Amino acid sequence: MSERFLRYVTIDTQSDPASPTCPSTEKQKDLGRLLARELQAIGLSDAHLDEHGYVYATIPANTEKQVPVICFCSHMDTSPDCTGKNVRPQIVRNYRGGDITLPADPSQIIRVADHPALADQIGNDIITADGTTLLGADNKAGIAEIMDAAQFLIHHPQVRHGAIKILFTPDEEIGRGVDKVDLNKLGADFAYTIDGETAGHIEDETFSADGVTIFIEGVSTHPGFAKGKMEHAIKIAAAIIERLPKNTCSPETTEGREGFLHPIGIAGALEETTLSFIVRDFTDAGLKEKEALLEKIVKDVMRDYPRSGYRLDIKQQYRNMKQVIDRHPEIVDNAMEAIRRAGLNPVKTSIRGGTDGSRLSFMGLPCPNIFAGEHAFHSRLEWVSVQDMEKAVQTIVHLAMIWQERA
Ligand SMILES: [Zn+2]
Repeated sequence: MSERFLRYVTIDTQSDPASPTCPSTEKQKDLGRLLARELQAIGLSDAHLDEHGYVYATIPANTEKQVPVICFCSHMDTSPDCTGKNVRPQIVRNYRGGDITLPADPSQIIRVADHPALADQIGNDIITADGTTLLGADNKAGIAEIMDAAQFLIHHPQVRHGAIKILFTPDEEIGRGVDKVDLNKLGADFAYTIDGETAGHIEDETFSADGVTIFIEGVSTHPGFAKGKMEHAIKIAAAIIERLPKNTCSPETTEGREGFLHPIGIAGALEETTLSFIVRDFTDAGLKEKEALLEKIVKDVMRDYPRSGYRLDIKQQYRNMKQVIDRHPEIVDNAMEAIRRAGLNPVKTSIRGGTDGSRLSFMGLPCPNIFAGEHAFHSRLEWVSVQDMEKAVQTIVHLAMIWQERA
């Protein structure tokens, strides 16, 4: 397990939101090619990397029963937020508790106070980066787990299962992970991303997400002759931001099931300024409410600028996958049972974000998210334990068996 993981993380697969290509960075194919080769070597003869950087493979069914085709999915890219070049993984064997100082930069300390999940790792082997890069357990832990489970199933033909599809995607971290996926070719009925955090967790709920852009048109005049005439688009934008709720409705003031309105960009000049927002909530009604609040603020501000104008555009980004997954309760039930058989206490939770699975679910492939064991992702303090990764492998194998059993 760890051998595989340690090899994958040394391959730089950082994605790039500024690139228009798919995959956004060619180097993601370095890992894709290796994975396709290794899947072939395990015995999955249809394994291949396609031109868009997706890896597909099939573990053939070894049962006469009609079993739904399930897919296990992980993403190959790492976050643009933190460098993934020259990752040098370290293993803290038989962790005894306490803070973990990273060797190449002693200012980088994984503190128990900030990472309470460390308390559950006593006696485990914890893998970190050296303090200068992220680790890439998000989502190479998931990839290594799926690879190990595939190898186990091929080597243990007495373990019965239906056809199982494997899918590795590029560019998940820049929100484009399923842009070029071919669901007909994949041919799965249900899927699971293996990209969650704490061992035992399964997430069947994500945010619903919209993007809002506000185009403000002010009135420009020469500044020397502007009295009573100029209406400054930048100042209008600033007034809108100033009136956003201060103690609620923002990422920095909410948690759990609360949503938010969050400005992510401002660009412009005197005459025209554009404000970009993301809006997040677990319900569509909650999204609408927040968008109505934003529009009310804009209208209030515009009253002070009678000759200026605005346009407000709302774009749907993704929707809470629970709407789709709840129509097929066996998807989550089977996963909860698999987690239990792996010796863990299953916990069903929600994600304050989106996953490849939220979009896949609405494309017709219902897809909750199972833990991979990754912690503190997108940072130099990222870590994962070998034992949690092994539990994820067991969960995948049990899940394949349970679908067969219950078919
Ligand atoms: Zn991820």
